[in-house]
Amino acid sequence: MNPPKPVYQRLYELVKDRDYFVLTTNVDHCFQKAGFAKERLYYTQGDYGLFQCSVPCHDRTYDNGETVRAMVEAQGFRIMTDGSLYLPEGVTAAMTVPPKLVPRCPECGEHLCMNLRADDTFVQDEGWYRAARRYEKFLEEHRGKKILFLELGVGYNTPVIIKFVFQKLTAENPLATYACINYGEAYAPEEISSQSIIINADAGKVISKLLE
Ligand SMILES: [Zn+2]
Repeated sequence: MNPPKPVYQRLYELVKDRDYFVLTTNVDHCFQKAGFAKERLYYTQGDYGLFQCSVPCHDRTYDNGETVRAMVEAQGFRIMTDGSLYLPEGVTAAMTVPPKLVPRCPECGEHLCMNLRADDTFVQDEGWYRAARRYEKFLEEHRGKKILFLELGVGYNTPVIIKFVFQKLTAENPLATYACINYGEAYAPEEISSQSIIINADAGKVISKLLE
């Protein structure tokens, strides 16, 4: 299902004609659904849109859109064109799926599971490494150039992936600007304060304002 607010779509409107790259710890597949180019996206922590072997016995991932759709429909739901679910009158959701829809690894036969960095079984497949290299390349190509590091709603659970990297890259580049938009935790270190924009507000509202 789509998120309740069109934040991803509005963010896409804001960046689509610019030279952008998305680094995210979100795993909800919403960037792709909002239209962001897959080649401009690095989903560091995995993606709900992908299955992997639960063992894992190999390093490939599998698009799961069709399987998940079949599971949802097998429970009695109809999937509307806007992605919302509709339960026809008189139908009770089964809340289970038929055994034949339980996804199995094509190599070893064990269950498939979500491709999420939940523990040390996380599979980093070829697509993940390609995305990592594209991100590195993007940073390399913009080193020393005018660039905006726009940080949206990054907290202190995993600051080493986005927050600390953006702050460090800003400190290394006098033409860079660091923008931290965070409801409750907006902050920039003293060292880069003259290059920083700090907005303590809801990211969705700020993005909407920027589009006006
Ligand atoms: Zn397997």
